[in-house]
Amino acid sequence: DRRPVRRALLSVSDKSGLVEFARALSARGVELISTGGTRKALTAAGLSVKDVADVTQFPEMMDGRVKTLHPTIHGGLLAVRENPEHEAAMLAHDIAPIDLLVVNLYPFEATLESGAAFETCVENIDVGGPAMIRGAAKNHDSVAVLVDPSDYAALLGELDAQNGATTLTLRRRLAQKAFARTAAYDAAISNWLAQEIGDPAPPWRALGGRLAQEMRYGENPHQGAGFYLGGPKRFGVSTARQLQGKQLSYNNVNDTDAAFESVAEFNPARTAAVVIVKHANPCGAAEGASLEEAYLRALRCDPVSAFGGIVALNRRLDAAAAKKIVEIFTEVIIAPEADEEAVAIVAAKKNLRLLVTGGVPDPRAPGLALRAVAGGFLAQNRDNAVVDDMKLAVVTTRAPSEAELADLKFAFRIAKHVKSNAIVYAKDGATVGVGAGQMSRVDSSRIAAQKAAEAAATAGLIESLAKGSVVASDAFFPFPDGLLAAAAAGATAVIQPGGSMNDAAVIAAANEAGLAMVFTGTRHFRH
Ligand code: 5GP
Repeated sequence: DRRPVRRALLSVSDKSGLVEFARALSARGVELISTGGTRKALTAAGLSVKDVADVTQFPEMMDGRVKTLHPTIHGGLLAVRENPEHEAAMLAHDIAPIDLLVVNLYPFEATLESGAAFETCVENIDVGGPAMIRGAAKNHDSVAVLVDPSDYAALLGELDAQNGATTLTLRRRLAQKAFARTAAYDAAISNWLAQEIGDPAPPWRALGGRLAQEMRYGENPHQGAGFYLGGPKRFGVSTARQLQGKQLSYNNVNDTDAAFESVAEFNPARTAAVVIVKHANPCGAAEGASLEEAYLRALRCDPVSAFGGIVALNRRLDAAAAKKIVEIFTEVIIAPEADEEAVAIVAAKKNLRLLVTGGVPDPRAPGLALRAVAGGFLAQNRDNAVVDDMKLAVVTTRAPSEAELADLKFAFRIAKHVKSNAIVYAKDGATVGVGAGQMSRVDSSRIAAQKAAEAAATAGLIESLAKGSVVASDAFFPFPDGLLAAAAAGATAVIQPGGSMNDAAVIAAANEAGLAMVFTGTRHFRH
């Protein structure tokens, strides 16, 4: 997979590092070809460079719009080496192979940012550059392509290490980067034009996603919205088949995704599990011997919030569970599959949406999470940390019992999917109180405890459901107060990341209250 570099085409707008790089190539016996400006810079530095016009036998024309767009260039970039037909074509048309392409594009983005006139922006749309980049990147089996001066050193290093050749590994990495560059370049152009023509939904089309559904509106009726697909396949809203019900709204998709991602934390081979979500937060979650049992226990946690919620199941929806779910108003049911009988039961509720995804996604799988900020976006790896993989450290005198430990893990699994600050009470594999999205951890603790008391009252019980429960916190308790609130509510064990400056005081308070506490060392912020 090693390819010697004998002939290189250089055509760059950003000429930083160019002369040194070209000189280094020349010193290694590489023949250089260049377009006008690039060649001028190189010959001024005393290098011998062939003019593209001599290769194409055509002058650069039309203000540089046509320089390299010619079969002698594109044939040299695209010809597959050791392919007899391609070699014959090269021979017949006097085309010589190009082994290395060095191109960076007309500075469209910088021109736009400088506030240039429309026509100037148009003139800075590079055509031949992206065409060559795409050709070389497609043919990376034979050709190396550099689109970024910061990669010059790596290429020279490779030539030295590989006796004047490049490896397929490097060529493929460079090809990937090259396509990312042309994609971003075209996206910038498209976004700019969208703005120019007053398109109300500018960047969506150009972001690289595939429009799956145009929505009537977004989070609110005055906001436009669309649902785009992209990235590696993952079972969930993106793979779902809708068996019935109205079209999903923006909020439905968002909440349904949150629900299914939460329930995916529970391996269907180990247990049945159900998560009920409202406004992207779980308001009830439970494991069970059956989906029906899991649903009823999840519902008990906060039946008021569950009204109009999303129900996610980690196993094939069966009739027994479906019967219970349709008893209250639910917006969406999502499950990997559904029994015919269950489908028939749901059919009685015309508006209730039923989605089957075809599978449950792997909570450990890597992936990307995006969020818009003014003038840009943040990108991060999805939170794929799973409590089963964490090294749990018991930090209190008392260690949790086996039952407590199981509930602690359950609670931490759910806390991962509750907006910060997240406090989750759980008992016997079911949430009994969820405190979400508060600015203070103590408030989340209080709300969670209050929910547990209310749920008990609704169920006609005297004692709060938090009695004898365990509690999970998505991030460390900075002070003992939140933890003491949990103890006062009746929790007997605590799971949290630890790592606060105040850990010692928090541990002391836990010991004094007779709590068992484990540290996970991993935080689950979710905003
Ligand atoms: P130079 O400064 O060498 O004259 O031009 C370099 C720039 O021209 C590079 O940014 C390269 O991407 C671009 N380029 C190369 N070939 C063509 C072409 O055929 N048409 C257009 N529009 N740009 C080209």
